[in-house]
Amino acid sequence: MQILRTPKELSQTVDACRINGQSVAMVPTMGALHQGHTSLFDLAHQHADVVVATIFVNPLQFNNSVDFDKYPLQLDHDIQLLEQHAVQFLYAPTVDTMYGANFSTSVHVGGITDVLEGSSRPGHFSGVSTVVAKLFSAGRPDVAIFGQKDFQQIAVIQRMVADLDIPIQIIVAPTIRETDGLAMSSRNIRLSGSARQEAAAISQGLRQAQDQFAAGIRESEHLIKTVKSAIEPTSAVIDYVNVIDSASLRDLSTASQGCVIVLAVLLDGVRLIDNHILV
Ligand code: AMP
Repeated sequence: MQILRTPKELSQTVDACRINGQSVAMVPTMGALHQGHTSLFDLAHQHADVVVATIFVNPLQFNNSVDFDKYPLQLDHDIQLLEQHAVQFLYAPTVDTMYGANFSTSVHVGGITDVLEGSSRPGHFSGVSTVVAKLFSAGRPDVAIFGQKDFQQIAVIQRMVADLDIPIQIIVAPTIRETDGLAMSSRNIRLSGSARQEAAAISQGLRQAQDQFAAGIRESEHLIKTVKSAIEPTSAVIDYVNVIDSASLRDLSTASQGCVIVLAVLLDGVRLIDNHILV
């Protein structure tokens, strides 16, 4: 695997791939890679000849400096995983390379960023869309892979590529979970032993709501209460549990096939998000 450090190196590498007739998939990450990420690399290989992973802990998308300071960094471990999954290129720029001294541009997607993670983490999505726009601009992949786990993030990226006429296909990968159902996340390693056990309640709540939906219950309030009741006995502090339309992200009072239960909790000071598409 070749490691690229600057936008110019990324750009020239992708150009060389194209001259060879190879298509390119990009998988943006913040590192501390786990099986959720590797599933994205595997999916990327199905869509393109060359896979470029990116690792960049983007300061612009952290509204909480403690969260940023504590974000795990494990580059050696990450490189091993990338090589095991036959990723051909890693783009890992420094903060100074990404954002020069006079950096002054922000990409802001309106509307859908006002709710959920957007309202709890002011500025978060502008940070995400700004860095992804830069990765797309330097890397110009044919496809880019994102995980369903960050449901609102996908909506924001899809809005951005549509609005800015960016010719990149966005592919959504399913959420990979631990055996007890907890969605894999780089932040999970910050949970204490007891909090890690309690965290299973999050996906249990989502599964119980799905069971109720399958049994015919449609009132969002009822489904939300079910999720909350599973989480409330734990030490987790619930930020939100909402039933939303998958496109507008607006709250729905009545659930229907394809709408989404999204949630965020703080457990042991660690922010965990998850979601489930009702079927
Ligand atoms: P992150 O490194 O957390 O910014 O995530 C990088 C990409 O991996 C994003 O597109 C995430 O949605 C995706 N991702 C993170 N966790 C998972 C998971 N458990 N399953 C599938 N994709 C994931």
